[in-house]
Amino acid sequence: MSTYADFHRRSIDDREGFWAEQAGLIHWETPFTQVLDYSKPPFVRWFVGGRTNLCYNAVDRHLATQADKAALIFVSTETNEEITYTFAQLDREVQRMAAIMVAQGVGRGDRVLLYLPMIPQAAFAMLACARIGAIHSVVFGGFASHSLASRIEDATPKLIVSADGGSRGGKVVPYKPLLDEGIRLSAHKPGKVLMIDRGLTKFDRVEGRDVDYAQLREKHLDAKVPVTWLESNEISYTLYTSGTTGKPKGVQRDVGGYAVALAASIKHIFCGNAGETYFSTSDIGWVVGHSYIIYGPLIAGMATIMYEGTPVRPDAGILWHLVEKYKVTVMFSAPTAIRVLKKQDPAFLTKYDTSSLRALFLAGEPLDEPTARWISEGLGRPIVDNYWQTETGWPILSVAHGVEKTPTRFGSPGMPMYGYDVRLLHEATGEEVGANEKGVVAIMPPLPPGCLQTVWGDDKRFVSTYFSSVPGKVAYSTFDWGIRDNDGYYFILGRTDDVINVAGHRLGTREIEESISSHNAVAEVAVIGVADQLKGQVAVAFAVLKDASRAADPADRMKLEGEMMATVDKQLGAVARPSRVHFVTLLPKTRSGKVLRRSLQAICEGRDPGDLTTIEDPSALDQVKTALAGK
Ligand code: ATP
Ligand code: MG
Repeated sequence: MSTYADFHRRSIDDREGFWAEQAGLIHWETPFTQVLDYSKPPFVRWFVGGRTNLCYNAVDRHLATQADKAALIFVSTETNEEITYTFAQLDREVQRMAAIMVAQGVGRGDRVLLYLPMIPQAAFAMLACARIGAIHSVVFGGFASHSLASRIEDATPKLIVSADGGSRGGKVVPYKPLLDEGIRLSAHKPGKVLMIDRGLTKFDRVEGRDVDYAQLREKHLDAKVPVTWLESNEISYTLYTSGTTGKPKGVQRDVGGYAVALAASIKHIFCGNAGETYFSTSDIGWVVGHSYIIYGPLIAGMATIMYEGTPVRPDAGILWHLVEKYKVTVMFSAPTAIRVLKKQDPAFLTKYDTSSLRALFLAGEPLDEPTARWISEGLGRPIVDNYWQTETGWPILSVAHGVEKTPTRFGSPGMPMYGYDVRLLHEATGEEVGANEKGVVAIMPPLPPGCLQTVWGDDKRFVSTYFSSVPGKVAYSTFDWGIRDNDGYYFILGRTDDVINVAGHRLGTREIEESISSHNAVAEVAVIGVADQLKGQVAVAFAVLKDASRAADPADRMKLEGEMMATVDKQLGAVARPSRVHFVTLLPKTRSGKVLRRSLQAICEGRDPGDLTTIEDPSALDQVKTALAGK
């Protein structure tokens, strides 16, 4: 067996040979004639001339061998439903949904916008679009009308698929009024709106525009909708980035490259096998949902759990209960979910038999060492950090245990994955930095299969945003800082705009956050740089305690604050010491669980917090304001 280093080297030195081999993991209706076309840098086309289909690879392909095996396992702890669809049943439902779409006039290249909660119909709709060559654009369910309107305008969908509502923490969230308002605010109007009535909440129908899913499904019960074979570089979907650092970017993906990248990642990185169960706790509104709830596991012939609910309802053992019940072998979650569990009784981690789990993969945010240790030791299962972006669609940094069992290191998401020519570049000179030196994490193009083709409708923005920030080089910038140790393990130090400058010292806010989180009272913390007349900037921290009552009393607060400052002094030096540690019970985060540092900073500096359309809970900002005012 080859070592991972050889595997990676070959993926860069012989891109065409490497990816031609990986392409054998999926079905091609017509073989490709060229593996890689890089004649118009930085744009890249993979598997040129090949014709394939994401839905065929995710569903039809498995009918011969596993028709009666589980494909989609829907679990809602919100509505207390649990339904398993076999591949045969999933195929029927997808064909019905495809027939409904075709009957509404949707065809190849048309856009279908999905504004849906985590229900099986969301999976049917994504796969149905893929089947007929329509481009789906999933908008996270629960985004308010304003965010929705801008996405409707950008995608100009012929059809919108939505539902009466979702449910969160036992509370019904009506979707339809938000959708109606979103359409009203948008200059573009969809021809039809397909409504899935879950019976959660009453809603108004717009005559002539809104059609009913259940009625139409009855009409198309026996529908057979042939697969539309697409050239590998046709568009499969568009999806927005999380919007942590500003206006979200519309990521556009192909068909063939994406299918190959996902199939390869399930094999080499996630080590999943056909017939097993994959459980990703993400949402279909995010890239993890696209890659690792829907397409990745299904393409690999795995059952996938689609979970509507929170990690703490009915109790903090629910995720592990599902692992036990469905013998999950691969699980994917986010540090933010683990930090939620950290505030709960750790006994839940051992209450269920999680021995089926080969590994728990975590991504989306820096995984600090204390959190990684807490979950790894509590669960007794391996934890694999992995670093990537909406733009790349699959991990950039991780470990590929399907190739070689390289050890993992707490605090490090690992090493460059095959296909990614990762470099750490000096921000001012564009030169490569050495081991243990900080640089911008960049990828030398061509980007591997599965990554974004361009920004939807805006090739110029694609080039100017991603490929124009490194001096003297055409390199894809991730806009994250990183450092590599002597053994080749990378560490992500935060976003390039999260660096603060205290009296001439450049500090990554991430390092200060890590230091504060090593205090055992802390569940999570955000550190930002705030303008200061004397020092240029100072660090200010907002901490959430495992037990909020510990900060109830002003004297206790002061004591804790002092301890945390002393921790930073000891670990990083006094220059990194935050000028204040404020205590809150929640941090302002995006709906995908990322801290909105930019908004925090704006509030601390008395500025407008900016675009807040993706915020999870606006009351978090009120807490910040109260904390600032109280001191
Ligand atoms: P926007 O680009 O719109 O500001 P965003 O960058 O938050 O939003 P995503 O694509 O969801 O949107 O997030 C990718 C980013 O998340 C990465 O660039 C990185 O900053 C962070 N990230 C993801 N995984 C990890 C990880 N394992 N460790 C550290 N950071 C991570
Ligand atoms: Mg980003």
